[in-house]
Amino acid sequence: MAKNYYEILGVDKNASQDDIKKAYRTLVKKYHPDLHPNDKEAAERFKEINEANEVLSDEKKRKQYDFQQANPGFGGEGGFGGAGGFSGFEDIFGDIFGGFGGRSTRAQTKTPGQDIELEVTLSFLDAAKGCKREIVYTRNAPCKKCSGTGAKGGTAYKTCPKCGGTGQIQYTTGNGFFRSVSVRPCDECGGTGKKIIDACDECKGKGYIKESTKITLDIPAGADTGSYIRKRGYGEASRNGGVSGDLIVVFRVEPSKIFKRKNFDLYVEVPISFKTATLGGKVKVPLIDETMDYTIPEGTKSGKVFYVRGKGIKTARGTGDLYIIVNVATPTKLTKEQKRALEEFEKHFDIKQSAEMKQYQDNLTAMYGKDPYSK
Ligand SMILES: [Zn+2]
Ligand SMILES: [Zn+2]
Repeated sequence: MAKNYYEILGVDKNASQDDIKKAYRTLVKKYHPDLHPNDKEAAERFKEINEANEVLSDEKKRKQYDFQQANPGFGGEGGFGGAGGFSGFEDIFGDIFGGFGGRSTRAQTKTPGQDIELEVTLSFLDAAKGCKREIVYTRNAPCKKCSGTGAKGGTAYKTCPKCGGTGQIQYTTGNGFFRSVSVRPCDECGGTGKKIIDACDECKGKGYIKESTKITLDIPAGADTGSYIRKRGYGEASRNGGVSGDLIVVFRVEPSKIFKRKNFDLYVEVPISFKTATLGGKVKVPLIDETMDYTIPEGTKSGKVFYVRGKGIKTARGTGDLYIIVNVATPTKLTKEQKRALEEFEKHFDIKQSAEMKQYQDNLTAMYGKDPYSK
């Protein structure tokens, strides 16, 4: 199933860096390819161990990974690997970790613009493969004619005389011994620090205008319902010369009639004939952008699940696995001839020889004290 780096290293979620180092050293010695030549399993383990260590031994990466585990979205449980090559994630994590406090703890008089949240629906295959999507939406964008200043030509303003251009007014509260100095936005200039002499005629001095914004999103493979991409500065313009808000595009992925998915793992139900189930044989199994042949072993029961590693959704953050669920088709609407052939088959096939029937009879005998089939 999905990769759990803590499980791979066999350490606790709260393990210290020392514990992680110790576990890693032990495992790396155990699964080193030099000790297991031509052993695919060991090579795979060795790779996994290194991957897990690379993330967990780096506190920053580990934090991101923990966050992803707790908030399965992009990257899901399976995905997280090295950084780079995936701007969607950079945006997500850049913002979540860089943004906490940053904006709000500073004594801000220029309030940032509001974020805009949009939902985009993706087909199952588009989400799995990745796609480009053009989005058109309306927002208050900074006025280009005055560079968002609200002043004609972007220059027809002077420094606010009340706050001296700082946009802040200091004032003291309390009296006697209890006195504190506080800061509030300047009411004369609304915190911009500027006094407009001549208003821009495009935006009438506001510094922003309602406009239709078009953006092309490069959606990486593996988007899932609830995952999102954040585009810095594509939200609403600030009302007083601060930075624009962000555009947050949240995805909704349509279900598929062929696949079910869990993070990057795929589940596919494949009908097979009674003959293939009995004697074994090759079946074609659909994947995201190809098909594969899979050999069903003889004596396969309906509902049996076969696991194929690495044939799930391929993303820059990791690849999921495939689960093939076999569904033995029961023939219906038989012709006379077909019915006769089946009758003929039954003459040669004694169901009492089947493992199921033997087990069933044993169970009946255990329950009733006799085998109801033997007279
Ligand atoms: Zn002012
Ligand atoms: Zn303007």
